[in-house]
Amino acid sequence: FAGQNFEPLLFEDLYEKSISEIMVPPVVIKKEATINDAVTMLFMHDVGTLYVTENQVLLGIISRKDLLRSTISNTSINKVPVAMIMTRMPNVVTLQEDERILDAGYKIIQHQIDSLPVISKDNPALVIGKVSKTVVLKHFIDEAMHLKK
Ligand code: ADP
Repeated sequence: FAGQNFEPLLFEDLYEKSISEIMVPPVVIKKEATINDAVTMLFMHDVGTLYVTENQVLLGIISRKDLLRSTISNTSINKVPVAMIMTRMPNVVTLQEDERILDAGYKIIQHQIDSLPVISKDNPALVIGKVSKTVVLKHFIDEAMHLKK
């Protein structure tokens, strides 16, 4: 960027856009799936977090640490369903689709988590997207690259 002049990044573009403009499709898993299935899905979809759902209704969330923790107890990873080890509703921190990017960043930092399920404004039980640290960072970088052109 050296020697070039840029328009200043607009606060609105960076922070005040709606979550619905940057969210990505979530990778979901059924509550009956085993811990083994969950580990396989993390690798197949190259994600760090899975959302446990039933008919699109958010039941809970499974992260890498939840899966690792289950391996140091006497858990049978071939038999135990993910529902046993997930962080369950109502303890899952979520975002509503009309919240802003700043809200997402605030919740991620405040709760020290990697991702937030996005829930529908019309039906707050349903998960319709995901906003992770990566999604927020990508948005920031994309905005800067866009201005560079
Ligand atoms: P990792 O396990 O890769 O460090 P996180 O930091 O996101 O991933 O997860 C840490 C813990 O917080 C896990 O027990 C996970 O179930 C839980 N967790 C993850 N996301 C959320 C969320 N949106 N709301 C509540 N708890 C969450």
